[in-house]
Amino acid sequence: MTHSNENGKGQGQDFATWLIHFGKEIDAATGASSVPIYQASTFHHFDLDRPPAHDYSRSGNPTREALEQYIAVLEGGTNGFAFASGMAAISTAFLLLSAGDHVIVTEDVYGGTYRLLTTVLNRLQIDSTFVDMTDFDQIVAAKRPNTKAVFVETPSNPTLKITDIGRVASWAKENGLLTMLDNTFMTPYHQRPIELGIDLVIHSATKFLGGHSDVLAGLIVTADEALGRRVKQLQNGLGTVLSTQESWLLIRGMKTLQVRMAESERGAARLAAWLQAHPAVSRVYYPGLEDHPGREIHERQSRGYGAVVSFDTGSGERARRLLGRVKIPLVAVSLGAVESILSYPAMMSHAAMPPEVRLERGITDGLVRYSVGLEDVQDLIDDLAQALAE
Ligand SMILES: *Cc1c(COP(=O)(O)O)cnc(C)c1O
Repeated sequence: MTHSNENGKGQGQDFATWLIHFGKEIDAATGASSVPIYQASTFHHFDLDRPPAHDYSRSGNPTREALEQYIAVLEGGTNGFAFASGMAAISTAFLLLSAGDHVIVTEDVYGGTYRLLTTVLNRLQIDSTFVDMTDFDQIVAAKRPNTKAVFVETPSNPTLKITDIGRVASWAKENGLLTMLDNTFMTPYHQRPIELGIDLVIHSATKFLGGHSDVLAGLIVTADEALGRRVKQLQNGLGTVLSTQESWLLIRGMKTLQVRMAESERGAARLAAWLQAHPAVSRVYYPGLEDHPGREIHERQSRGYGAVVSFDTGSGERARRLLGRVKIPLVAVSLGAVESILSYPAMMSHAAMPPEVRLERGITDGLVRYSVGLEDVQDLIDDLAQALAE
């Protein structure tokens, strides 16, 4: 994949090179090999008639700005923004909307996004309709006179349903709707939604971008400067910014994104194939499997399948037994780290969802989600084999 982005240097470089040489990787003042941590809340005005480039860290901090430029380069957008968490980024993005507006949202969107829309934004008269975006007609049918935006998550969580990004983006453009996409599961290594026509890309950088389960952060990238100015105003006005230390830590983690993603994906593909052949597993969800319903669309818009595999053990009892027996993965919410993470949607991320809605979406009591880390894959398979044994 080649990139042409004016933010950095060396047009046409490969993604792996962008990851290391994003433009601000060397400190201009000293030549230091990593971005300095500017641990300062405010900045001296040397000359009152010429305000400094930075005057207060909520409005702009050089360490955070290095990170913001970094993600903008990786996503091929104009402006990047860093937030205190993925939810802080998502909350900020939704506040581009106003009272009386309506947004169409992926039905099995991240649980926190669902909660924000149905318990907070609804009180501000920002209405939402959740649709199965694998069915394009449902998106079109959900449009109302006051619809202003479409919020997409693909692959979705935990059953990895695929939305056709380009088709949704061009329909939205024809209808004057803003498009926002949560790219957490794929990262810009695999999927670059701005190139497919999306206006605003969001990340929970807590997951693959950070990659080490040690930082909570969110990112936004806009496709154009005008939208960038609106997000900047919200980020500064709401104060949802990422701290300086966390900004540095995230830059540190992101440099190895490609090697981590590529290796975890190799593991995920092997694990998915092994699970599919296992008699105790009734169903495996992974976009790279031949029988995955969205595989063809996914292959057109992404360059890989990611590192998350969900599978159904058949019953709640068997899922709980598995979770109690595994010895290698962390049993936890979250994903996208160097260590494998096994989570149990029915009792963790989707516990608040009414059981009948959960079942309708394939989130059965037997479903578990495996985020493959960097351990030896054969060890992960052997561990699962003993945990799944009768
Ligand atoms: C974790 C996650 C979020 C929320 O991010 P936080 O950093 O936990 O606030 C949003 N979207 C997706 C897809 C996620 O996995």
